[in-house]
Amino acid sequence: MSLKHIIPSKFKVSINQDSCKKCKRCVTHCSYGCLSWNGSEIVSDDDKCVACQRCALYCPGSAITIEENKTLVYPPHGGYPARIRRIIQSQSGTGGVMLSSTGNDLEYRTIFDDILLDACQVTNPSIDPLREPVETKVFLGRKPEKLEFQVDPVNPEKVELKSEFPPNFEMEIPVMVGHMSLGSISFNACKAIYRAVTELGIVAGSGEGGLHKEFYEYKKNLIPEVASGRFGVNLEYLLDTVAVEIKIGQGAKPGHGGHLPGEKVNKLISTTRMIPKGSDALSPYPHHDIYSIEDLAQLIAALKETTRYRVPIGVKIAAVHNVAPIASGIVRAGADFLTLDGFRGSTGAAPRIIRDHAGIPIEVAIASVDERLREEGLREKVTIIAGGSIRYSADLIKAIALGADIGMCSMPVLVAMGCRMCQQCHRGLCSWGIATQKDHLVKRLDVDVATRRFINLFHAWKEELKEILGAMGIDSVESLRGNRDRLRYIGPNPRIADILDIKHVGE
Ligand code: SF4
Ligand code: SF4
Repeated sequence: MSLKHIIPSKFKVSINQDSCKKCKRCVTHCSYGCLSWNGSEIVSDDDKCVACQRCALYCPGSAITIEENKTLVYPPHGGYPARIRRIIQSQSGTGGVMLSSTGNDLEYRTIFDDILLDACQVTNPSIDPLREPVETKVFLGRKPEKLEFQVDPVNPEKVELKSEFPPNFEMEIPVMVGHMSLGSISFNACKAIYRAVTELGIVAGSGEGGLHKEFYEYKKNLIPEVASGRFGVNLEYLLDTVAVEIKIGQGAKPGHGGHLPGEKVNKLISTTRMIPKGSDALSPYPHHDIYSIEDLAQLIAALKETTRYRVPIGVKIAAVHNVAPIASGIVRAGADFLTLDGFRGSTGAAPRIIRDHAGIPIEVAIASVDERLREEGLREKVTIIAGGSIRYSADLIKAIALGADIGMCSMPVLVAMGCRMCQQCHRGLCSWGIATQKDHLVKRLDVDVATRRFINLFHAWKEELKEILGAMGIDSVESLRGNRDRLRYIGPNPRIADILDIKHVGE
């Protein structure tokens, strides 16, 4: 046996030669080199198939079938499932850390699925969102500790707000797009996202790769990120945006830095990140100027000064075991918003060992941070943004009811634009033109279509949000926030309900 194990392919590609029109379109579409023309017919190298589905969906003869490989299965073993044996076999061949992308793909329970929402009946009337207003707007930024009003002594009906508001951004829907850098995703994917958030009246994160000059026109709906590598960070990048976020951690890889392989650093990326073409873009694990809350406070203060106190400055952390005291320290350091990213959050590239085994679920992080900040009288000072497994509108609603102000997601946006979640983003060969920098693949993503599909998705979420708020008899998202009394737990572990501070069903 060679050093490289022979590992059974995960997928099996079958070509129905009777239906095949011999057009060879599938060969062109497959960016992973799985399909080829042998002179008389299409043949497949199943080891290379990642089930991205591109070939099958574009086959004019519907001749391609992709299935899990059932012809060569691993002998069953309860303690060593095929997944673990694959990892051992792969590493004994390469000796390297296994990389992957998208989010944690292990079958941990998704706590959102164990939570049910309340609805109104008889004594507490519901609201019909088609006939009555239901407010979906929220504000991103620090709020005043209390509201003060000035009553006109001559005309007591004339009341003016006296309290000064720190900078806030008004969002039409309580959800933002997570940080995906130009580099991790393509120019066309970035453009579609930025155009869509502008039309939707919400925001997207820039990721840690700086901002390409052509995207400056979308700055009014973007949050630039300041990560440990400081890629692309300059005055021009920071000014005139919605807010600025310091990235300490990311849910998909808590405690880890960023890594964009050199082969993805083409001219476009090198200019935007301000690094040489072809060089790896490595963000250090920690910020080398932040080793305490005081250090963080200094960076927050510096960014506030840099942005002339016109925008909120926030901090993003991964949800880890002691997330609540960390969050408290961050608010005390002056952060106007706090982004919590749970352990099912997505990534363009992360070591599997961290992606799949480090961090905690976002549901418990939201509840424990919200509670701690309330206990310490800090909750109203900060906007909590929560992400890392907000998959659809139901998760968004539950995240807000648990205590978040705003949800954050990336995967649903990519899936809306065409992503098949094949978990190959780190290879830069995305056949759908999303997670790639190869010109011939990038062109495959039609910016207009991707923009429209993303807008449609969030429009649907907004309507569903109004529907459920109406059914719960709540007329605004602000009134849903932290309203845990309207949640019930139906999962197998009542201890989770205690930690979330929600009642069990039937209570
Ligand atoms: S795309 Fe379909 S019809 Fe065309 S060569 Fe491939 S399998 Fe045959
Ligand atoms: S973005 Fe592309 S490579 Fe990444 S998971 Fe989606 S389809 Fe696969």
